[in-house]
Amino acid sequence: MKRVIYPGTFDPITNGHIDIIQRATRIFDNVTVAVAKSTGKNTLFTTEERLQLVEETLRQLKVPAKVTIFDGLLVDFVRRKKAQVVVRGLRAVSDFEFEFQMALMNRKLDEQIETLFLMPKDTYSYLSSSIIKQIAKLHGPVTAFVPKHVEKALRAKYVNVPPTRE
Ligand code: ADP
Repeated sequence: MKRVIYPGTFDPITNGHIDIIQRATRIFDNVTVAVAKSTGKNTLFTTEERLQLVEETLRQLKVPAKVTIFDGLLVDFVRRKKAQVVVRGLRAVSDFEFEFQMALMNRKLDEQIETLFLMPKDTYSYLSSSIIKQIAKLHGPVTAFVPKHVEKALRAKYVNVPPTRE
C-alpha cells in the first residue's frame, strides 16, 4: 500500500487544497495532510488552528485522509511515516520553479521519495491562501473559495481590523 504525504502551510486550507486532497485520495489508499509547524512564514493561524481547520474540512466532506502536524525536514517526516510519495499542487507556471527546486532537492536528500504534482480544477488555479487572507482582511467575500467554517475563522481573525488599515 502506497502512503502519501501532502505537506503545506494551509494558512488556511482553501478549496484548491481540498481539490488536491480529493484527487490524491482517488489515487492512493493512504493520504496524510501534513501541516507544517515552522514554515519561516508569518502565519495568520496558529499550527493548532490550521490543523483543526483541515480536520473539520475532512470530517465535513468525508474525505478519507488523515491530518497531522509536522516539523523539521520533510524527507525525515516522510520516512518516519513510512510513506513513499509527496504530493504537491501545481497551479501555474509561477509555482513551477520553486516546486521544481524543492522536488529535486528532496530527491537528492532521499532518492526513494518521489514527488507527484497534481493540477487542480482550472477555477482554483488562481487561488492561494495569501490572496484569500487579503480579501478577508478587506472584509470581502470569500465564500466561493473556502469552506464555511474557514470563512468564519477568517472573519473572526479580522473582526477588529478596519478594511482600510495597512
Ligand atoms: P506552501 O507550502 O508554499 O506554503 P501551501 O501550504 O499554501 O503552500 O500549499 C501546499 C501545497 O498546495 C503546495 O503544493 C501548493 O502549490 C498547493 N496549493 C495551494 N493552493 C492551491 C490551489 N489553489 N490549487 C492547487 N494547489 C494548491
